[in-house]
Amino acid sequence: MRVIRKHVSRRRPEWWEAGIRFTCLPNCGRCCDEPDGLVYLSREDASRISNSFDLEVDEWLEKDARKTHDGRYVLKSTTEKGTCIYIKEDKGCKIHNVKPAQCSAFPFWKENIRDDPSWRKTIEICPGLVHPDAILIDGDTIRAHIEADAHAELGFKEW
Ligand code: SF4
Ligand code: SF4
Repeated sequence: MRVIRKHVSRRRPEWWEAGIRFTCLPNCGRCCDEPDGLVYLSREDASRISNSFDLEVDEWLEKDARKTHDGRYVLKSTTEKGTCIYIKEDKGCKIHNVKPAQCSAFPFWKENIRDDPSWRKTIEICPGLVHPDAILIDGDTIRAHIEADAHAELGFKEW
């Protein structure tokens, strides 16, 4: 009898699976301060943040979100600087405890982590990746951040 061997494809481990050292520095805000940066909102984000303001989701969306050209909801930006409406003078976040998934996932976004040039650019933006207090973030946590960011980026168009 001929034995048909199943081809077992072996996934190449990702470079970040061994973990990356990182700490988010208080009052840094460099990833929030980018003019015209987009923060896509998931349904879970909208529900959690509106609840923190004691508003219905559609009321909060009207107040603090807008739609992109393709209809997905993103956080509003300030008219003066084009930066996030929730960044404070001291560069902290007004909604830190309920902030959107994309904010919590940064710098572990697929587009940042996919190759060496992208990661080098991310290191230039984020001082928490080279700070002496940075701690090792394990591969599973990084994968969870990548997935959370990707889920949020799918966004939603109607509540
Ligand atoms: S740039 Fe990095 S260290 Fe600074 S606020 Fe963003 S995630 Fe934190
Ligand atoms: S919601 Fe908070 S963490 Fe997210 S971009 Fe705005 S200020 Fe930064």
